[in-house]
Amino acid sequence: MWFHERSYYNTFSMGWKVKNVLHSEQSKFQKIEVLDTDALGKLLLLDGKTMVSEADEFVYHEVMAHIPYSVSRKCDHVLIIGGGDGGVVREFAKHQSIKTIDLVEIDERVIEVSKEFFPQCTSALDDSRVTIHAKDGFEFIKKKKNHYDIIIIDSTDPEDFASGLFTKEFYNDVYNALTEDGIMMNQTENPFLDEFDIKKIYSNMRKSFPFVHSFFAPMIIYPGVYWTFGFSSKKYGPQDLNPVKRYEMEALQRSLKWYNQDWHKGAFQLSNYHKQKIGLI
Ligand code: SAM
Repeated sequence: MWFHERSYYNTFSMGWKVKNVLHSEQSKFQKIEVLDTDALGKLLLLDGKTMVSEADEFVYHEVMAHIPYSVSRKCDHVLIIGGGDGGVVREFAKHQSIKTIDLVEIDERVIEVSKEFFPQCTSALDDSRVTIHAKDGFEFIKKKKNHYDIIIIDSTDPEDFASGLFTKEFYNDVYNALTEDGIMMNQTENPFLDEFDIKKIYSNMRKSFPFVHSFFAPMIIYPGVYWTFGFSSKKYGPQDLNPVKRYEMEALQRSLKWYNQDWHKGAFQLSNYHKQKIGLI
């Protein structure tokens, strides 16, 4: 049998051959499914949309964690909003200097299902530095001021209970929750299949942050593969890698599957198309 994800106003479809359905449930928030696929291994779906696969999760989770970490001058406290599969937590936990990692995932069933079917992603959720909050990130952030050095928005598409995570109000709350050197990373969809107005998302980010940059990384499981990410900062640009961390990162990147510092520095050199789609030109 086959799984087809339809997107872009139901005019685009991407399919994966499926051996069998390993799990299916309706949580309080969404439908949660796990498929065993021929090409990707296990594949997590939320409301019929691809989220995480065994085959390519490393790309997303490594860039989300190691890009901001490599730039940060201080990285004691990290917040991840969404990210219930645990992959971004796993990557941050590789940095022993980090003191606390808060994971704010609205749907704790995503965490439980990920623990059962994606243990390679959830391996760091029992790290003593990790605290899991089964809460709405949009509300959680309002109570935090000048505390986090890095905040990651690892959410589903800007729809339903995730839509607030792409608003200028939310980005302003993120700005206030960050320390003076703070960095925010977020997934910002696909500009080719621009269903969620990527230009508006970046305009909202620019209303709070003085430095807003973008890059793309290939996510084979996401519609159109060309997946963009935002890097928003109070002080440092995305290519201002912290020289103190150079050797630490050189050692770590030897064990990583996607991230290295050379790729990092090049990733932010954008095409005219990418610049135009996010309102830079
Ligand atoms: N990390 C995966 C990837 O590689 O793209 C997918 C992202 S993760 C599974 C997306 C998570 O965001 C979902 O588990 C969803 O429940 C969560 N989420 C959506 N809106 C949220 C909100 N307002 N607060 C907290 N978590 C939210």
